[in-house]
Amino acid sequence: MGLSSPVSYTMVAQPSGRGRMGPGTMTIKRVWIEEGCISCNLCEDLCPEVFEVPAGSECRTTKHYKKHLNGDAEMIEKIQEAAESCPVEVIQVEEE
Ligand code: SF4
Repeated sequence: MGLSSPVSYTMVAQPSGRGRMGPGTMTIKRVWIEEGCISCNLCEDLCPEVFEVPAGSECRTTKHYKKHLNGDAEMIEKIQEAAESCPVEVIQVEEE
């Protein structure tokens, strides 16, 4: 008695893993790159469907990237991961 103070943790339901968002939960309307890209290629590695980094140039969105903005949860997650991982935070995402 005395030393054992009850510690309670509140379990918060955490959706995990890919595909956690159902269709229609969230969609991305537009993606663009602001000035300041350091051409590290990370976004292209994470989501080549949307980002490309031409040799000797700054990152840009792929020509047909908008066709991937169709609410596919896995794709949305990849885009968000790329945006959050950008070391200079120049990837902008407009959500609907
Ligand atoms: S992750 Fe950021 S800095 Fe790296 S290539 Fe993409 S936009 Fe440029």
